[in-house]
Amino acid sequence: MNSRCALVSKIIPFSCVDGPGSRLALFLQGCNLNCKNCHNPWTIGRCDHCAACVPTCPHGALTLSEGRVSWDSAACRQCDTCLTICPQQSTPMALTLSVSEVLAQIQKAAMFIEGITVSGGEATTQLPFLVALFSALKSSTSMGHLTCLVDSNGMLSETGWHKLMPMCDGAMIDLKAWSGGLQRFLTGRDNTQVFTSLRLLAAHKKLTELRLLVIPDHCDYQQHIDALAAFIRTLGDVPVRLNAFHAHGVYGEAKQWRSATREDIAPLAQALEARGVEKVILPALYL
Ligand code: SF4
Ligand code: SF4
Repeated sequence: MNSRCALVSKIIPFSCVDGPGSRLALFLQGCNLNCKNCHNPWTIGRCDHCAACVPTCPHGALTLSEGRVSWDSAACRQCDTCLTICPQQSTPMALTLSVSEVLAQIQKAAMFIEGITVSGGEATTQLPFLVALFSALKSSTSMGHLTCLVDSNGMLSETGWHKLMPMCDGAMIDLKAWSGGLQRFLTGRDNTQVFTSLRLLAAHKKLTELRLLVIPDHCDYQQHIDALAAFIRTLGDVPVRLNAFHAHGVYGEAKQWRSATREDIAPLAQALEARGVEKVILPALYL
């Protein structure tokens, strides 16, 4: 029985967009960035039980009792009304689950998946849980074959990565902008730590994928293409995934931003390839 707990936003038993192959995707609640372009903005904050969402639920799935909001999963119809109303960018549907409870869910999917990916929010903000979960999986006789990946914004400290790397097969990291100024505009923090994380993970052969997000008019990769390509080449033969921003699902000013099209992505892919970046992966879909 492993009782280390995490606040879990969602579990998707079978996903083919959260890393290589079919994977169980575990989304942890809470993030240390505040990205304008976040597609899961209700995973950023933590519920403070203000109860603003309770009367808005059209299906009576939320109740307030002794200062705490409870969610009735049986009554919930997943309409997401509560997510759009929350002033904390949170959800009343997040659950506190122990490592043992999550392992039980992974066990049900284990025969059909190649591994698990822990995402968020920002997975590494709940590092002790992550370490305990990956360690338990690696030592499991029935699930030890599953690969353990983390989908991260790269803000974890070097000390944190050193705790995680021994039981983690790899990390997929977003470099949301080349310049610290644009990264700060997009996320609220600069990207010095992201570069440190990328170098560290690459040096330990734990960088599964580097991700670049193309947001038309809010993107500086082309402006710094020589430096960007040179940096990527120092990481080795890491795959570079180009993601296309789409406005669907985001909150605030980013709702007005233009979604990226093939015509926005192709020049960046060509510019990287022309500078010796070999493994460029194009978006699977555009919205
Ligand atoms: S989910 Fe948001 S709106 Fe609902 S109680 Fe928690 S903080 Fe308040
Ligand atoms: S998603 Fe939220 S608002 Fe919709 S039924 Fe479930 S608890 Fe209620």
